[in-house]
Amino acid sequence: MKHIIPALWYPDGKNRDVTGAAKLIRPGEYIRDIFKAATGTATTARGWVKTRRDSKGVTFIQLSDGSTFADLQIVVETGTIPENILKDVTTGACIAVIGEVVESPAAGQSVELKAREIQVYGAADSTTYPLQKKGHTMEFLRGIAHLRPRSNTFGAVYRVRNAISYAIHKFYQERGFLYLTAPLITTSDAEGAGAMFSVSTLDMMNLPRTSEGQIDYEQDFFGKKAHLTVSGQLEAEIFALAFSNVYTFGPTFRAENSNTPRHLAEFWMIEPEMAFCDLDGNRQLAEEFLKYVIAYVLDNCKADLEFFNKRIDDTVLATLENVAGSDFAHVTYTEAISILEKAVSGGKSFEFPVFWGADLQSEHERYLTEETFKKPVIVTDYPKEIKAFYMRLNDDEKTVRAMDVLAPRIGEIIGGSQREERYDVLLDKIRKQNLPEEHYWWYLELRKYGTAPHAGFGLGLERILMYVTGMKNIRDVIPFPRVPGYADF
Ligand code: ATP
Ligand code: MN
Repeated sequence: MKHIIPALWYPDGKNRDVTGAAKLIRPGEYIRDIFKAATGTATTARGWVKTRRDSKGVTFIQLSDGSTFADLQIVVETGTIPENILKDVTTGACIAVIGEVVESPAAGQSVELKAREIQVYGAADSTTYPLQKKGHTMEFLRGIAHLRPRSNTFGAVYRVRNAISYAIHKFYQERGFLYLTAPLITTSDAEGAGAMFSVSTLDMMNLPRTSEGQIDYEQDFFGKKAHLTVSGQLEAEIFALAFSNVYTFGPTFRAENSNTPRHLAEFWMIEPEMAFCDLDGNRQLAEEFLKYVIAYVLDNCKADLEFFNKRIDDTVLATLENVAGSDFAHVTYTEAISILEKAVSGGKSFEFPVFWGADLQSEHERYLTEETFKKPVIVTDYPKEIKAFYMRLNDDEKTVRAMDVLAPRIGEIIGGSQREERYDVLLDKIRKQNLPEEHYWWYLELRKYGTAPHAGFGLGLERILMYVTGMKNIRDVIPFPRVPGYADF
């Protein structure tokens, strides 16, 4: 390929070629801005070629820079661009097009770019380029995660992921919550939310042993056994009891060997924690939060959502509009069980048994939210035996102040609780559950020095993304999924 000098973008905003000579016109813009430009504007579009089509006297190129769902149509009148350059403008190639914004006669787009000059940054052999125009399966796209971001589907997913992430920070910052970066490496296996990954620098071929023959973690990097965090909640509690309202937003890791479409070994979680807040306040915040994020995406990701609605799940838009505008249902666990028992006696069959004391399985959660209420449902006050030790005991001494938010298609999207803030009750629970008391010394001390009622919850970023986009598999809403047996890229 002939070497072509690329135009560079300098801080002064003027394009130059590498010789330093000022190049034509204005700096390149995002394609989403070009769509809004007036006809006659001279501009540069840079991006990757989705398709190229030649007809008599003219070549059409669909160009994407990821800034918006729609591709920019480039029109090349035969003769304007030398053939030795145009031959490299094929699917997958990265190019810059200098040209003029003109009105588009084609349906569904306002403007197109009439090419005056084209520079090829990188050609792509179109006979081997894996990402072709024809629809690929999600499985196939996962195998080409280095090119998947250029596909329509993943491009839309990632723009929505970005918008949701921004909306999450915005929501909490607007309410005065402090952003807490909880540690990813932890030596307290306190939370017990799931199996943990070990973090170690010990030589696995030659493990140091104690005199009793156990692995000697004192010789390990941290001087004791360390793990990747499963949740930032306990640290968030520490901070809530100093800053009142805090939230974490970071990666969490669970070595759960569950090959489901809703579980990842590495996923992102948002965990607000509020002092002076009880379960009702917690529930209200969760509802307000989800509605805010959904409203934000509806306002800011219209084109992407329309794509999901057309190509992935035709209920997505209606569902989101419905959620943004209606109240969530609320039932206690006990009420939920009786709804499910009625369903069973009415002929509905579940794989897992339904009885008071049983954990709600995904099928039960989906029945409640999809069949009974047809909208998100918040279930509260679960039996203490099936929930974590730190959840506040109710006066009935049988249930705890837990809450799960269930969403149609997904099941659990949020899990949270009011925390046990009473020292004696917490200590009693730790002992009764045979938990290693010494691990919880600081967690207990928080109840000894200036305790306060407090509550919080955890939202899985990828779960809300699945809900918003209609994507069926959680592996397709995170850039590089980590699941049992797979951590490529
Ligand atoms: P589930 O029953 O679905 O496994 P959980 O009870 O283990 O969830 P929590 O410990 O309450 O979940 O975690 C809080 C939130 O984190 C969940 O509501 C969910 O949105 C998300 N989450 C939990 N585990 C995973 C996972 N393995 N992959 C992706 N998201 C997860
Ligand atoms: Mn789990």
